[in-house]
Amino acid sequence: MIVGGGPSGSACAYWLAKSGWDVAVIERKTFPREKTCGDGLTPRSVRQLADMGLEPQVAAKGHRYDGLRSYGFGQSLEMRWPEHPHFPSYGYCVTRFDLDALVAENAASLGATVLTGTEVLDVLEPRSSMRDGALGSCSGVIVKQKATGATSEIRGRIVVVADGANSRIGRALGTSRRRDWPMGMALRGYYTSDLHDDDFIESHLDIRDPEGNVIPGYGWIFPLGDGRINVGVGLLSTDRRWKGINTSTLMETFVDFAPEHWGISPETSCGPATGGRLPMGLSVGPRTGANVIVIGDASGSINPFNGEGIAYGYETGRLAAASVAESLLGGGTDALDEYNERLLKGYGPYYDVARAFVRLISEPKLMALCVGVGMRSETLMSELLGMMANLMRPDELGPAEVGYRALAGLVRILPDRVLTALFNDQTADLRSVSSAA
Ligand SMILES: Cc1cc2nc3c(=O)[nH]c(=O)nc-3n(C[C@H](O)[C@H](O)[C@H](O)COP(=O)(O)OP(=O)(O)OC[C@H]3O[C@@H](n4cnc5c(N)ncnc54)[C@H](O)[C@@H]3O)c2cc1C
Repeated sequence: MIVGGGPSGSACAYWLAKSGWDVAVIERKTFPREKTCGDGLTPRSVRQLADMGLEPQVAAKGHRYDGLRSYGFGQSLEMRWPEHPHFPSYGYCVTRFDLDALVAENAASLGATVLTGTEVLDVLEPRSSMRDGALGSCSGVIVKQKATGATSEIRGRIVVVADGANSRIGRALGTSRRRDWPMGMALRGYYTSDLHDDDFIESHLDIRDPEGNVIPGYGWIFPLGDGRINVGVGLLSTDRRWKGINTSTLMETFVDFAPEHWGISPETSCGPATGGRLPMGLSVGPRTGANVIVIGDASGSINPFNGEGIAYGYETGRLAAASVAESLLGGGTDALDEYNERLLKGYGPYYDVARAFVRLISEPKLMALCVGVGMRSETLMSELLGMMANLMRPDELGPAEVGYRALAGLVRILPDRVLTALFNDQTADLRSVSSAA
């Protein structure tokens, strides 16, 4: 059974149902439902949707775009998605209202049972793990029907936790987030705009607080093609001022300073902005137990480079489905643990680099320097776009791969604690780390 029918849970259900397994998704909301998001799909997401046979439906509901227009420190650049052997050179903007319903219905059409309006209250008969670094186990879940208030038990051989960033059920089984690793926080609102079908999504790299100080994060404007644009700001917990920042004020400031041609104003607003957290870089664990496995935001799988989580929800859901099937075929706990190994092999080194990168850009002076240098070269910024969206080519060594390898080398030499101290200018911490090493 799967707790949560967002991108990760529904993708996991799709791949399990496709291989003939009995699978139930338990989702507290009823589709179609709103989910706070930027609604941006990169080529990586498009690839997963195409693999699930959904690209025509996404194309019909969403808006196809070609690349990213980036603004920063008085300069701007337009970059197309790179050509890649495995990923398309375009993305879509589509509301989660439409997208998540499509993916859940697709899983149901292959035989998955999708129980909507059903909230998982707790795990059933939880048992702690005897193994270090592993989650506990359970016999199933206790659910409440939202319509009637009636509670009941649902039993399952394996429980997949896909309940999103807050992950109450993951935490009940023993997951926790590494607080010394970065986390994102973001806010978005919809506006009507004449430019709703622009061919480029837009990012603003020098968002500021009301006093004019640069904040580590970015603002975005994503055209939805349905008369509306999705406007938002995201920031990173790496900044010392993070706790004092009021995201609503940040959003208001961004809206005030966004380029005029978008026509963003209180008059074109479709309603108040809503926000959420972005657990990133595989910061949540443990991710497996004797009969449980954690995916998507519940496992902190968002890409720290760009805050993208939908693709990683689909991918971790798909990887988990393979391990669940192997486990049920006799591989037991070892097969579930294999999921964790695959995650670490597939994303671990890339996310180590991404975490170092976000610490680097959290220093306003370094951020201004990087953006200032980068914005002078379209080639450099295009390569950076490919690197940040995890679209580096396996078959060639271009500037993105070279830059990535240079950062990866730095990360190998300097552990995370040293990078934290270094980029936050905490020289005392740095000295204590060095002397302890
Ligand atoms: C403001 C903002 C903007 C973002 N913009 C983008 C973007 O443009 N592109 C991108 O790729 N990513 C973006 N993300 C990240 C992206 O939204 C997530 O990474 C993605 O939704 C993760 O999918 P998921 O399935 O793991 O979790 P979710 O999408 O959160 O799905 C979890 C599901 O579980 C259900 N659930 C939770 N608890 C229970 C329970 N107890 N019982 C039953 N059901 C339950 C929820 O109702 C929900 O449907 C953004 C995030 C935020 C906050």
